[in-house]
Amino acid sequence: MLQGKTALVTGSTSGIGLGIAKSLAKQGANIVLNGFGDAEGPKAEIAALGVKVVHHGADMSNASEIEAMMKFAADTFGRVDILVNNAGIQHVAKIEDFPVERWDAIIAINLTSAFHATRLALPAMKAANWGRIINVASTHGLVGSAEKSAYVASKHGVVGLTKVTALENATTGVTCNAICPGWVLTPLVQKQVDAKAAAMGLSNEEAKKVLLLEKEPSMQFTTPEELGELAVFFCSAAGNNVRGAAWNMDGGWTAQ
Ligand code: NAD
Repeated sequence: MLQGKTALVTGSTSGIGLGIAKSLAKQGANIVLNGFGDAEGPKAEIAALGVKVVHHGADMSNASEIEAMMKFAADTFGRVDILVNNAGIQHVAKIEDFPVERWDAIIAINLTSAFHATRLALPAMKAANWGRIINVASTHGLVGSAEKSAYVASKHGVVGLTKVTALENATTGVTCNAICPGWVLTPLVQKQVDAKAAAMGLSNEEAKKVLLLEKEPSMQFTTPEELGELAVFFCSAAGNNVRGAAWNMDGGWTAQ
């Protein structure tokens, strides 16, 4: 379905980004990976799906590095057809204790990076009259949780940016939508499981149950593979007129 298209997924050396990159690759899209840590393992996993794959290590908190990454993608594959703004970080603390440097980093990586990548991707998408921008927001783009001020503010911002991007391009073949996952068991969430286990004297399995019980009626983690299939739907012809949605996959978290 996506043969000949190029997808750039930010923060795709791990977790949800890697899951989405694999789902798009299974549909035939060439992939530009981004993110820190080992890139060779993820590159090999994507290449095994029979598509071309490259990696750019831009720090998504840095505008000029994002510009270099977008240029690298265009130079390598011609243009970016599918942009998945996924890179994100978390920090948990009450507002009065929240380190200012962590606030700035979360807003830069979770929100401002999506603005930069989107503004740089749009001209070529509009010229081709086809494009898909998929922003990985969160249930925290729709509702709040205590001790996550920067994260919740950044994700509400991402949902707002999604709506404006969709509206500004509503008469074109370029759509923009947000995905709002609940708990997904990636390294980002395992840190929160570890913190709960330590604070409450629980085993890893018990701490996972406590985490789910607080928020998710389904008592199940959403998987990167499930989120990847939602991204594939947004890229399909059936997604042509889905614009500005903030689509949850959260086990009922935001239905409460
Ligand atoms: P993760 O920690 O597994 O992966 C994060 C990725 O972002 C990694 O590839 C990392 O290298 C990259 N990254 C971090 N800082 C970066 C930077 N400055 N520049 C470039 N890359 C950077 O996390 P994840 O759980 O897969 O999260 C991915 C996205 O999904 C985030 O936006 C997160 O907020 C969102 N999300 C996660 C959950 C969850 O439960 N895990 C739920 C809702 C939303």
